[in-house]
Amino acid sequence: GQCVAVCPTGALTEVNQTNNVVRALSDPAKTVIVQTAPAVRAALGEEFGMEPGTLVTGKLVSALRSLGFDKVFDTDFAADLTIMEEGTELLNRLTKFLEGDKDVQLPILTSCCPAWVKFFEHQFPQLKDIPSTARSPQQMFGSIAKTYFAEKMGIKREDLVVVSIMPCVAKKYECGRDEFKVDGNPDVDYALTTRELASLIKLANINFSRLSNEDFDQPLGESTGAGVIFGTTGGVIEAAVRTAYELYTKKPLPKIDFNELRGMEGIRQATIDFDGFPINIGIAHGLGNARELLKRIEEGESNFHAIEIMSCPGGCIGGGGQPYHHGNVDILKKRQMAIYQEDGNKKIRKSHENPYIIQLYEEFLGKPMSEKAHQLLHTEYFDRT
Ligand code: SF4
Repeated sequence: GQCVAVCPTGALTEVNQTNNVVRALSDPAKTVIVQTAPAVRAALGEEFGMEPGTLVTGKLVSALRSLGFDKVFDTDFAADLTIMEEGTELLNRLTKFLEGDKDVQLPILTSCCPAWVKFFEHQFPQLKDIPSTARSPQQMFGSIAKTYFAEKMGIKREDLVVVSIMPCVAKKYECGRDEFKVDGNPDVDYALTTRELASLIKLANINFSRLSNEDFDQPLGESTGAGVIFGTTGGVIEAAVRTAYELYTKKPLPKIDFNELRGMEGIRQATIDFDGFPINIGIAHGLGNARELLKRIEEGESNFHAIEIMSCPGGCIGGGGQPYHHGNVDILKKRQMAIYQEDGNKKIRKSHENPYIIQLYEEFLGKPMSEKAHQLLHTEYFDRT
């Protein structure tokens, strides 16, 4: 399909699961819930004639509710959860490193982009112990939905259907990975792209631009600004820094915006001062740039502590499932501005301050990297050469 032209790994094929979703929605025995990735709200409007960079979060929620989803949740919630786990992992590795442990693996690499995960499993398997073991937000959401949420609601796992709306074609492949299934039942049942959702909204005769703005459901719909910026290159690492800084220094951030991590250049680097300890950060988007950065690490010429890699140009805002942008960087920049605008609008902008995340740890997970968190929120990687 069209995927071959736009998706970062040509091996992935685009399977449209819209029919399965519609079937689930019309099955009275099923509870069907949906999560939407951060980048979707910054681009979906384009499919309905709106200007690039128009934020449509409230209309998106409204449309999903009109389509019949029982709960409309937010992948941004799970992005906050990812930061709790990945930020803690980063701090653990740093602490060990500072204590002189020679075996500690640095830099830590982000692991929320499935096309990037597949890329290093195939092309750089020798680096497979370096990435964070944290699952992606999509998969953390599915795992928490089918345990914590299902228990809370008294729904059996097999009667709960989890759908995700993703900017991404590789997310379809990610839901199918065996590590993310329990007795054959996947944590995330179906992933639709932004474009497939737009088609479904049109098919259902919903007048998108006339929709009112609605709010996500709770508890898996609450998110912070840090969760939102996962949608753009530089955002995952900025979100991690916001939390890791405060956990490490035990002081409030003097400034929440890290402009030095933002931008569109393919490879960027910055040093963030953790109260006297300099943290070196690298960022790459696009797999060509990722390869370049990985070579530098392999050759030992980098002294990075943490690196963010996203496969698509611009990060998920430029994902293969988004409205076509035909390589137009202006469109990507506008979507990126929309993401930072949503972050700026949020009352809470640090993942560790999300009240529903705090509650999830209190009621269910214990603390980050606990045994239960390990089992439900972490994963492993394989040599696929
Ligand atoms: Fe998917 Fe691209 Fe985002 Fe990676 S960067 S998660 S491939 S949309």
